[in-house]
Amino acid sequence: MPWKKTQLTVILIGETGVGKTAFLSLLYNVCAGVPLEEWAPVHLEANEAGGSKSGSQTLGPMMYTIPCENGSTLRILDTPGLADTRGVEKDEEHKAAIAEYIKNHTETIDAVIILANGTNARLGVATQYTLSMISGMFPHSLVDNIGFVFTMVANIFSFNFESLSLPQELRNARHWKMDNPLAQWLKYQEAKKKDPPVDEEDLDEMYETVSKGYRKTFTHLIDLFTWLDDRQVQPTKEINELYEMTMTIESSISNVVSRLEQTETRRAALIALKAQIAEQNQIKNINAKYREIISKADWVHEPTKAHNTLCVAGGCYSNCHLACNLPFTPDRGKLANCFAFQNGSPRCHVCGHEPADHQHYRSRWVQAMRQEVITDKAARARFKSAKTASEDLEVMKQEMEKTIRSYEEAIRKDQEQLGALCLRYSHLALSGSFAGVISSTIRVLKMRLEDMKRKGQSKDAQDRMSGNIKILEKKLHIIREVEKKREAGDGIVKRLGGVAQSVVKGVLRV
Ligand SMILES: [Zn+2]
Ligand SMILES: [Zn+2]
Ligand SMILES: [Zn+2]
Repeated sequence: MPWKKTQLTVILIGETGVGKTAFLSLLYNVCAGVPLEEWAPVHLEANEAGGSKSGSQTLGPMMYTIPCENGSTLRILDTPGLADTRGVEKDEEHKAAIAEYIKNHTETIDAVIILANGTNARLGVATQYTLSMISGMFPHSLVDNIGFVFTMVANIFSFNFESLSLPQELRNARHWKMDNPLAQWLKYQEAKKKDPPVDEEDLDEMYETVSKGYRKTFTHLIDLFTWLDDRQVQPTKEINELYEMTMTIESSISNVVSRLEQTETRRAALIALKAQIAEQNQIKNINAKYREIISKADWVHEPTKAHNTLCVAGGCYSNCHLACNLPFTPDRGKLANCFAFQNGSPRCHVCGHEPADHQHYRSRWVQAMRQEVITDKAARARFKSAKTASEDLEVMKQEMEKTIRSYEEAIRKDQEQLGALCLRYSHLALSGSFAGVISSTIRVLKMRLEDMKRKGQSKDAQDRMSGNIKILEKKLHIIREVEKKREAGDGIVKRLGGVAQSVVKGVLRV
C-alpha cells in the first residue's frame, strides 16, 4: 500500500519489558513485505535500558532506516529508556543524547510512538517517569503526533489500560493494541524442527493462531501507518529549542540555588559578625571608665590670727591646741607646758605624739579638696583594642551587608529571567509548566524510591534517589517562588490596566 510520504520518521520510546526489540523486528518484516512464512528476527540493537546489554554500556539513540516495499522509507529513531536503573543522572545524559541526536539526524519528524505494556491497568513507574520526561521534552505542537502502542494485548479482554493513568495532555492520544506475533512465529518455527516431531494437529493449531495474530497485527499496523502518513510533518527545531530552554532554565535555577546558598552563608557570617561587634562594644563600655577622677583631700595650713599648737608628725595633721595660751615660741621644748600636755603628760592628749613633734604656727591644719585623674592603663588598653576591633568589625559588617544586597539583587534578576523563561517554556512544552514537569518527576521518583525499598536495593542507591528528590524539591520550590512573583506582577499589571481602562472610560463619559 503506497504512502503519500516518501519518508516517515518516528521517534520510538519504550521501557524494558515492553518488547521494543520485537516491535522493531516486526516493523522491519512487515514494511519490507516479507511474507509470514519467511519471517526472521532482525537483529536490531534496540535500546532497552536496564536490560542485559545496557548493564555495562550505554546505548545511545539510534536511527534505523527500514526500506519499505512501497518504495517509501520508514525511519525509526530508537531512544534509550528514560528510566535508567542506574540513576537519574543517567536519564539526564539520555535526554541530552536524544536531543543532540534529533538535532543532528533529522529536521522533521512525523510522530512519537510510545510503547507501553497494555496488560497493566496503570502505567509502570518507569513508563510514567518516561512520559513526564517526554512531556517536558516535546513541544505542545506535537500533541497530535503522539501515539501509543500497547503491547502484549492478545485480545480485547487482556487490555487493561486505563487512559486516566496517562498525563492529562496525552489522554486523547491515539492508541493501538497489539500482540506481536513474531515471538509465537519463532516458537512455531522451533516446534516444526523438533525431533521427535510435534503432533501435526498441534502444529496446525499453532500456525492458525500465528496467522490469525499476524492478520490482526497487520491490520493494526496498516492503520498505524495510515495515521503516520496523515500526520502533519513537524519540524524538530522546537524540540531543540525546548531542550536548550530546559538547559537554560536548569542553569538559571542552579544559579539561584548557589546564590541563595552563598547569601545564606553570608547572612550567617553577618550574624556572627554582629555578635562579635556586640561583644567588643560591651568590652568597650566596661572599660570606658579607664580614666577615673578621684577627689583627694590634702592637709594645708590655713592662716589664723592667733597661734596654735599643731602636730607636725608625718601624717598626723592634728590641731592639738587651737589659740594656745602659751606665748608664741619657736622652741618645741617649751610646748610641754601647752594645754595639750597638761599635768606633765609626755604625750599629747589630742594626738598622742611627743612635744618635739609639735610646733607653734599662726595657722592651722585644714583639708583642701583636690581632684586627681587616675588612668587604669590595662583598662585603657582593653578599651582601645575593643574600640579598634569593633570599628574593624563594623567595616566588615558593612562590606558584608553590601555583598548580601548585591546577591539579593542578582537573585532577583535571576528570578525575573527564570520567570520569563518558564513562561516561554509553558507556551512551548507539551507539559505546560516547568513546575509541572518537576513535580511529576518528583512524584514518579518517589514511586521509584518506594519500588527500590520493596526490592531491597542498596541503601546507597536509595540515598542517591532521596538526594535527587530533595534537589528537585528545591528546584520546584524556586520555580514556584518565581511563578508566584510573576503572577503577583501580572496581577498588578492587570489591575493597573483595569484602573487605566476605567480612567479612560471616565474621561470618555465626561
Ligand atoms: Zn600629733
Ligand atoms: Zn597650748
Ligand atoms: Zn598633739
